Amino acid sequence: MRIKADFDLCESNAVCVGMAPDVFELDDNDYLVILTEEVDESRREEMRQVVASCPRSALSIAED
Ligand code: SF4
Repeated sequence: MRIKADFDLCESNAVCVGMAPDVFELDDNDYLVILTEEVDESRREEMRQVVASCPRSALSIAED
């Protein structure tokens, strides 16, 4: 499973960073960085919650 971000929608409020800091990070300019696009299947439910929590609906899960 891969995590995708629409950087045009993201407003860098770091909700995802707070929920999964090993996957998401804000860089020095406060732009979202996805540290690891490929996330293990075992974390699907967790990633689903992160996607649902993004206030800008900027995140999605892409199937391989
Ligand atoms: S929660 Fe959504 S809007 Fe906020 S930083 Fe993450 S992707 Fe961007």
